[in-house]
Amino acid sequence: MSLNEVKSKKIDGRLFAQEYLDKVLKPRCETFVDIYKKLPKLSTILVGESPASESYLKLKDKFFAKLCVESEVFRLPEETTEEELLAFIDKQNHDNQIDGILVQVPLPSHINEDTISESIAPSKDVEGLSPGNVHAWAKALPNLVPATALGVLALLKFYKIPIEGKHAVIVGRSMIVGKPVTHLLLKENATVTVCHSRSKPLEEYTKQADILIAAVGRPHLIKKGMIKDGAIVVDVGINFENGKMLGDVDYDDLSETASYISPVPGGSGPATVCMLVSNLLLAFELKHAKKSEEKLNCLRDYYANYDTIGETGFCIE
Ligand code: NDP
Repeated sequence: MSLNEVKSKKIDGRLFAQEYLDKVLKPRCETFVDIYKKLPKLSTILVGESPASESYLKLKDKFFAKLCVESEVFRLPEETTEEELLAFIDKQNHDNQIDGILVQVPLPSHINEDTISESIAPSKDVEGLSPGNVHAWAKALPNLVPATALGVLALLKFYKIPIEGKHAVIVGRSMIVGKPVTHLLLKENATVTVCHSRSKPLEEYTKQADILIAAVGRPHLIKKGMIKDGAIVVDVGINFENGKMLGDVDYDDLSETASYISPVPGGSGPATVCMLVSNLLLAFELKHAKKSEEKLNCLRDYYANYDTIGETGFCIE
């Protein structure tokens, strides 16, 4: 490498997760568990089998074990019908012991993912995909926002990467990643371009990015020659090839061009788990808070604000 070449800095999701766990989630959780004498509980529902879901669950379990939260995983067989799954969710919507419900995607093809995410009670919707929650994040209101999108923003903020006025290019337009990331970055005053499978040639767009977010699900789609010097790259993709986990970005190819770049594994994944817990704690606190609008808004703002969230006393009477 010549002296003129930029050596990129790793966006280390594990480092972020450790700090966020120690400085934010743990103290916050311990403070309110002392008050409410109850642990927040997450229910994760898995239908059939998927390697991406299994790897996420493993990461989640390891992380949850360090926190004052309860987590139960319900594994349903591949042949579960949509009606059966809806009935299962309905029971959990009414179960007062459960504070958050997460249905792992992808679901088997005979089950409509939108129908399922819309069936989760908004107050327990830690994935932020039920209609009321989508409405809130589309309007830039703080509330339950999809965890992966929150994780992307949290990583950028953790590395103090300026967002305002930057051109962010997002590859992928799903409800779970691409769209909520778009809204979060717009809220931070970035100019946002969203690409998808018909954006051709893709490199024409990616080369314009100051900040590039890849959320596609195609191994090493983003490679040499597709970004400009000094770009910031966050790779959300989780793909498996011959048992190996790969991102959407060829890290080695880009690590001398990007100024910051996140690896897979060890980048967006751990940040997503942190934000899932953050959503669970928010759902739990909103449920237990005195129902004054002022208190509820205080909590929503508190969880949305990564610059001050390290202070644990906010919005607790
Ligand atoms: P989806 O399949 O729902 O969306 C993929 C998006 O990528 C679509 O908008 C699609 O376009 C677009 N796309 C597909 N092929 C191309 C291409 N060749 N060029 C440009 N755009 C393309 O996936 P998700 O959003 O659910 O997940 C994306 C990735 O992120 C996956 O690898 C998933 O495993 C991973 N993931 C990671 C998480 C984490 O914690 N790190 C959490 C959640 C997901 P179109 O709309 O036109 O079809």
